[in-house]
Amino acid sequence: MNALEISGLQKTYAGGTQALKGIDLNVRQGDFFALLGPNGAGKSTTIGIIASLVNKSAGTVLVDGHSVDTDLVRAKASIGLVPQEFNFNQFETLLQIVVNQAGYYGVPRHIAKQRAEKYLKQLDLWEKRDSAARTLSGGMKRRLMIARALMHEPKILILDEPTAGVDIEIRRSMWEFLKKINEQGITIILTTHYLEEAEMLCRNIAIIDKGQIVENTSMKSLLAKL
Ligand code: ADP
Ligand code: ADP
Repeated sequence: MNALEISGLQKTYAGGTQALKGIDLNVRQGDFFALLGPNGAGKSTTIGIIASLVNKSAGTVLVDGHSVDTDLVRAKASIGLVPQEFNFNQFETLLQIVVNQAGYYGVPRHIAKQRAEKYLKQLDLWEKRDSAARTLSGGMKRRLMIARALMHEPKILILDEPTAGVDIEIRRSMWEFLKKINEQGITIILTTHYLEEAEMLCRNIAIIDKGQIVENTSMKSLLAKL
């Protein structure tokens, strides 16, 4: 079974912008997959639809085999989402943010606490666990969002421009972390407008432009063509 199966996906926003013009996309389980494209291409819209934060206009989306139309709860539970914008409560502590997130997914509190320790340590945030999120640097906030997205142990991690505005040192450590959890079995899908990031990390890639997939291939064959 594929982690993600998208077919004929269209999105027209109120106001008339045709953000997606019928895209098809399959991502295999265990893959590390990049959706690459310039600003305005439709990457965030695609991710928003997969995560059920944005309504689609047409097409089908299966997440880990669950339709977002008929099996929304299971489709959502299969995904951990790391959005572009910092959307946590800046006045809560890191521990509160990640433990509460697990609560939304019905994870028992004692397990949530164990996971919080595990992921905050792996992402080098454990020292900061009792600090308010607003005191973190930008790179730390990005890592916090990754820890939060993993708290219900989803099969698929989706990251929207994960290293935007992150300095090179931190970016490399985030890349290492993502590679490691991918090797442990989680499917990773990320968007980026920057080929080097896709090249460093991803096995397969789709290029999106003006709401259409213009290339969908392995990273190797794409690089061979360039
Ligand atoms: P990307 O993530 O690749 O930068 P987006 O999916 O954000 O692209 O945007 C695709 C297109 O849809 C753009 O033309 C953008 O202006 C438009 N768009 C995105 N979100 C909205 C919205 N909420 N309302 C109207 N238009 C939108
Ligand atoms: P909001 O009103 O802030 O959008 P939601 O109920 O949509 O609240 O989500 C609550 C929290 O869970 C938010 O911080 C949001 O980013 C996060 N979230 C929503 N959907 C997912 C998902 N599929 N995976 C992981 N986190 C999610």
